[in-house]
Amino acid sequence: MSGELEAERVAALAQIAALTRQFDEIVAASQASNADDEHDPEGATIAFERQQVAALLDQARRRLADVDAAVTAVEAGTYGRCETCGRPIGEERLAARPTARTCIDCAR
Ligand SMILES: [Zn+2]
Repeated sequence: MSGELEAERVAALAQIAALTRQFDEIVAASQASNADDEHDPEGATIAFERQQVAALLDQARRRLADVDAAVTAVEAGTYGRCETCGRPIGEERLAARPTARTCIDCAR
């Protein structure tokens, strides 16, 4: 596995762990204050925060899925090749986004 993918994987896992902790804290806080009434302004804030963290968590999980897909591609020998047009993905793009699955033209 390339070092960049390994680093990206570690970062994604750390992000998921941090967000999961944050999510649990929000849930615990909402239970502690018994503020799950949506008409309660504090309850609405907590619901909003919970939604935000859930969305970030979704993103982080997708990020991890992208890393796993890239690792599979490395193993299959197709890493760095655009999934759409089959041409090589630019080195600059891969350096910026090691999990890129399409070339910059197809991504547009
Ligand atoms: Zn392409």
